[in-house]
Amino acid sequence: MQNLTEVNGDLWREVTERCGDIRRCFSCSTCVSGCPAAEGSPPLFVRNLVTKILLGLEESLLEDETPWLCVTCSACEEMCPMGVHPFEICLAIRRWQVSKDDSYIPAAVAEIFERGHTQALDSVGDKRRALGLEEVPPTIARFPGLLERFREMLRETELVRNNEYMFGG
Ligand code: SF4
Ligand code: SF4
Repeated sequence: MQNLTEVNGDLWREVTERCGDIRRCFSCSTCVSGCPAAEGSPPLFVRNLVTKILLGLEESLLEDETPWLCVTCSACEEMCPMGVHPFEICLAIRRWQVSKDDSYIPAAVAEIFERGHTQALDSVGDKRRALGLEEVPPTIARFPGLLERFREMLRETELVRNNEYMFGG
């Protein structure tokens, strides 16, 4: 929970030096309207991340896991009318969070281990059917054998070996 008496007025400089001038963001939500991760649960709203940065809400930004839901499609980069780089903002926040605490492991990493996706697919079946698509997309989610091979690869990494409590799948 963010303590509003403790804000960091230089947070925008610290986090987003490579993201364009994020002070130009006027929360138009254009980047959100085309973002596949904005449909997820929880949703990723880059404009909210920008607001937290500009207000210096460091604690709240540190606790925010939604930047890890970005699927790096870059659609938002084409759309921002103000030359801000929403995709780069997600990556910059990830780097900043890890730099603040090198033992930090976002829950999204455990979710990738568990199902091969950061996003749960439970809620997308109906939408896909309505579009005439198969309920489960043709990703690793449809191939349990591949998912197990993917997990075996991840088990070889220090991240998983040293944090088995997070990777039970
Ligand atoms: S790059 Fe990330 S934030 Fe931008 S539209 Fe794609 S998923 Fe959303
Ligand atoms: S599209 Fe650009 S200006 Fe609009 S909310 Fe997203 S980052 Fe801000």
